Amino acid sequence: MKARKLTPGRLVIASHNAGKVREIRALLEPFGIEPVSASHLGLPEPQETGITFAENALLKARAAAEGSGCVALADDSGLCVAALGDAPGVYTADWAERQRFEGPPGRDWYLAMGKVEGKLAELGPDADRSAYFICTLALAWPDGHHEIFEGRVAGALTWPPRGTLGFGYDPVFVANGFDQTFAELDPAHKHAISHRADAFAKLVEACF
Ligand code: IMP
Repeated sequence: MKARKLTPGRLVIASHNAGKVREIRALLEPFGIEPVSASHLGLPEPQETGITFAENALLKARAAAEGSGCVALADDSGLCVAALGDAPGVYTADWAERQRFEGPPGRDWYLAMGKVEGKLAELGPDADRSAYFICTLALAWPDGHHEIFEGRVAGALTWPPRGTLGFGYDPVFVANGFDQTFAELDPAHKHAISHRADAFAKLVEACF
């Protein structure tokens, strides 16, 4: 079935993450879309209670579409490690949450990367280090219609972390065909090959 087209006008970016909003805004700029963030409209952030990326992306997009009366776009993303049964997966951000004994509340990406590496180390030196980043985009219309697009970038995990650019798990991820981690690559280069770029290319192809 053909995807519903996006018409020029306002589109709510259902994210309270300033970095994501900036990236999505830049990707939508050439299409006559006026992006406005959910936080700018004072919309509440729903709990991510889904057990798949698509469920979480859709519940964020739906909440913003219902709250604003406009079309809304949400992104849910994460890291999946083959040898760990695709963990941390939908819990990618949660693995960075400090436990009480680990320090003040908040997220620590070095802690998260260390947890992944620790689990791989338990599997021995020959553990399969292949992994992929995934990005699921959900577009929701106020009448209940929705479209979902998924993008991926495949690679392998390296240790110790390298590079200071990017965010999250970038310092331990090396995309297939590259030697540098995502945190060592020029951001423009990363954005051209990333899971988010892949998902956006599919959205643009289907909805513009
Ligand atoms: P959520 O989509 O906001 O639930 O969070 C997904 C988490 O996955 C982020 O907080 C990052 O840690 C991680 N992640 C998603 N995309 C990337 C990326 O491009 N580089 C590094 N980490 C990422």
